[in-house]
Amino acid sequence: MEASQGLRIILDGHIHSKYSRATSKDMNIRNIARFAKVKGLNVVATGDFTHPGWLKELKETLKPSSFEGLYQPAENEENVYFMVTTEVCTISSFEGKPRRIHHVIWVPSLEVAEQISEALSAYGDLEADGRPTLNMEPPELVERVTEVSSDNLVFPAHAWTPWFSLFGAFSGFDRLKDCYQDMTGRIYALETGLSSDPPMNWRVSELDRLAIISNSDSHSFWPWRLGREANVFELPEPSYKAIVNALKSKDNRRFLFTIETDPAYGKYHWTGHRNCGVSMPAREAVKAGGICPVCGRRMTQGVEERVEELADRPEGFKPPGKPGFVHLIPLSEIIATSLGLENPQDRRVW
Ligand SMILES: [Zn+2]
Ligand SMILES: [Zn+2]
Repeated sequence: MEASQGLRIILDGHIHSKYSRATSKDMNIRNIARFAKVKGLNVVATGDFTHPGWLKELKETLKPSSFEGLYQPAENEENVYFMVTTEVCTISSFEGKPRRIHHVIWVPSLEVAEQISEALSAYGDLEADGRPTLNMEPPELVERVTEVSSDNLVFPAHAWTPWFSLFGAFSGFDRLKDCYQDMTGRIYALETGLSSDPPMNWRVSELDRLAIISNSDSHSFWPWRLGREANVFELPEPSYKAIVNALKSKDNRRFLFTIETDPAYGKYHWTGHRNCGVSMPAREAVKAGGICPVCGRRMTQGVEERVEELADRPEGFKPPGKPGFVHLIPLSEIIATSLGLENPQDRRVW
């Protein structure tokens, strides 16, 4: 007889609370848990633990669960578990250019979250935003976070988007090790963001040692946002540590696959100029010299073109042993489209 396969975990490891800018004011634990359940997620990020107001609310509305390092809503047990997470923006300078990079942080408890907030409060105002801006270099961030506990995880957020990301065309780096320097060895994962998928990342050999993961970065609980990208695991004994270890070991029997939106659905996939309604694939953008054919100004380099620039492998290359992925479109958007409605929030969709 075959051994038990363990429990299927579907994790969205990066979202935001009502304390982040441009976030629904109803983004609280009760609503996140309710819609995570509708969506079929069983582990979801708390987001924003660095914000003192949100951390206080997390302490009041969550309780430890039977899955070590994961929490449950204190008032009901919906079989939705929470992982304690945040996102921060580091501002530093490299080779004479300002670099603004978003990083996600995962920790195994609210107590550890508090210790990290304490350490990071020296670098910026944590109360200003659910995603605080810190004046520090990325390796310094990794060191501060992982010296509290080696179970803490730091990874680059939406690694390819033009602004605020590791490989961003505007204020990012060309190489992982330029960003994290002597702390690169403590980076175990990379978040693809909505505009890239695993095959795009497989083309950069420097990323082979990382787990390529996907999260929604949602600012609302609606199920066409929450969990629109996610990670699927099969774990004999689910816990915070089991999830992190599955990523660290890149064991594709435990970290099975990611759920992706089609990268072309991400607003930064193509190179273009939004004001002029111009958008084109990399090949045409290179031909146009990166200049908008309507107004003559420089276009925003899309993720597809940026990948082409940094890739050292041809399209279609797959390194051995990588978890797979599936492309999904949120069900509510499919229903809305089939009903001829513009907005998936329309009551007729529900
Ligand atoms: Zn971000
Ligand atoms: Zn975010």
